[in-house]
Amino acid sequence: MIIILKHGATDKDIAQVEEKLTEHGYQPNVTRGVEDIIVAAVGTPHVDEKSIVAPQLQAIDAVEKVLFVSKPYKLVSRESHGGKDTSFEVGGKDGGNRVLVGGRQICIMAGPCSVEGRDQLMETAQSVHQNGAQVLRGGAYKPRTSPYDFQGLGVEGLEYLAEARRATGMPIITEVMTPSLVETVCEYADVLQIGARNMQNYDLLRECGKARTPVMLKRGLSATIEEWLKAAEYILAGGNADVMFCERGIRTYEPSTRFTLDLSAVPAIKKASHLPIIVDPSQGTGRRDMISSMSKAAIASGADGLIIEVHPHPEDAMSDGQQTLDTTQFAQMMSELKPVAQAVGRTM
Ligand code: PEP
Ligand code: MN
Repeated sequence: MIIILKHGATDKDIAQVEEKLTEHGYQPNVTRGVEDIIVAAVGTPHVDEKSIVAPQLQAIDAVEKVLFVSKPYKLVSRESHGGKDTSFEVGGKDGGNRVLVGGRQICIMAGPCSVEGRDQLMETAQSVHQNGAQVLRGGAYKPRTSPYDFQGLGVEGLEYLAEARRATGMPIITEVMTPSLVETVCEYADVLQIGARNMQNYDLLRECGKARTPVMLKRGLSATIEEWLKAAEYILAGGNADVMFCERGIRTYEPSTRFTLDLSAVPAIKKASHLPIIVDPSQGTGRRDMISSMSKAAIASGADGLIIEVHPHPEDAMSDGQQTLDTTQFAQMMSELKPVAQAVGRTM
């Protein structure tokens, strides 16, 4: 059951609803979104939900409506949000810009796979910024398949990201791999990236649910849409409403691409959920020559944004060079995406 409160509901109103739910044996979960305050009733009540609990809740002045959601991903479900799309702002930290995700404008995030050093990051940041990217990406903690590969610069990398934000105004998105590092990464990041390999790291999901920094939840390498929706539910149920999905390709039998970019996930997520979805054609194909085509297809399929790997010298990159655009290729791609965005009623 989901309880939507009226605009202007006070802390006292929320407490009244929470008290009623607790009395009947639920654990209430409050989410404060930009527009609405939503209380999810988790657990099994002692009495009948429809005939006893719901009418009592409806009798509370501050309650707008009570919804019965049968899905296991209640807060994430489109029906919990009155069928409407959700949009939210990211950024604003340290004087940086605020960028809307899930609105009419396509949100472009770009930057290197890994933060490798100050000069590499600043050069990339300035260039992608000039070419229309709104958010800077860069990994400071890297999930690498081999323990002998570059693992990221850690806090030093976060410091460079913060410096690039001061220089360009771009909010920063960076991966957090461990629950114990969520607090540290939140001090720097405007968006926490949960990597594909961590989509079902439930301790990490719970910790990000407690944070007040927006989250981008990547799809697991072999996760179904339903598993992905349930993973997002952990974050919302923890009280963090600002979650976006990211389709980044799944494992299939096809070896000509690194993963198979499942663009049908875009309309599938849009149908099931009110949350925004971003597409990552860089991890999704593993091939530089496919980034532009798949980016166009992603926008045409209804994606709210893209996350693209860019490096001044991809051939020297310390990770994922083969799927990384150089700054000129990124500029070229951006000019080609605009008409596609316009054709589907979006701006860029
Ligand atoms: C990345 O964005 O560089 C990355 C490691 O992503 P994923 O978790 O999708 O593999
Ligand atoms: Mn990468």
